[in-house]
Amino acid sequence: MRLGFHVSVAGGVHRAVRAGILRRCHTIQVFTAAPAVWARRKPHPEQDAAFVNSCREADLWPVFIHAPYLLNVASANEDLWQKSVSVLIQELETANRWQAMGVVLHLGSSAGQTEQQGLKRVTRALAQACDHSEGPAQIIMENCAGQGELIGHSMEQLGAIVEAVGIDRIGVCLDTAHAFAAGYGLHTAEGLDALLQEADELFGLDLLRLIHLNDSRSELGSRVDRHEHIGDGHIGSAGFRGILSEPRLHHLPFIMETPKGVKSELEDDLMNLRRVRRLIPKHLRPSLPPAVRAQK
Ligand SMILES: [Zn+2]
Ligand SMILES: [Zn+2]
Repeated sequence: MRLGFHVSVAGGVHRAVRAGILRRCHTIQVFTAAPAVWARRKPHPEQDAAFVNSCREADLWPVFIHAPYLLNVASANEDLWQKSVSVLIQELETANRWQAMGVVLHLGSSAGQTEQQGLKRVTRALAQACDHSEGPAQIIMENCAGQGELIGHSMEQLGAIVEAVGIDRIGVCLDTAHAFAAGYGLHTAEGLDALLQEADELFGLDLLRLIHLNDSRSELGSRVDRHEHIGDGHIGSAGFRGILSEPRLHHLPFIMETPKGVKSELEDDLMNLRRVRRLIPKHLRPSLPPAVRAQK
């Protein structure tokens, strides 16, 4: 099994590699630039090649890019929609330069439209982004908690998009906290099984590319997106033991986006890593890369 974290590229992409090594990761997720601004990373052949090399050397693989939060490919606003598609294309191009598996994307809000209209906007956006970018980088749709009119909270919605766009360049990221808040009781064996069966019927489990492994501070079905440290939320240690023992998920990278702020960001992440490792059946527990001391 491959475990990792979302790590920061602040100060340069080499910092993300360093952060991944310090967190003893086997996979990482990054933003290409600050998540709350439109400006994205320009090609930089030297730095891009160095990033790929150092990820390979450190066995940080696969790499995922998370698209910025401003994107709304479900939007009825033509300007916002166009801008979102164009940034998505830029992010896919960076993903190709970085040999990243793909771009993890929140599908946005259908506010002001019906759900069907919102889904259509998403479908058109994804098709256009695929048409205007080369492979192999994929668009990896992330399920959401479903606050407001956010698209992507149900396996049914994800399935409808896959049905319309096709599977060539499309994948799915399953966030445990979001699924729980959206009403999937994956904290129990029955709930997890029901979710995976539904996903398999509606789009196929082979489209899963990664798991966002986060506990949920908000309750089942609350539709509120609040991450919690592994074991401290409503999914709980028993829930994660089930998820981490699930044979249908073992081959996937697990990336944590757990909260920071108890101690240092690094210590918080290492605490969550220890908790996750303890919940993985012994014979599946990944080897631990050597500990590296943090440098200022
Ligand atoms: Zn996300
Ligand atoms: Zn979240």
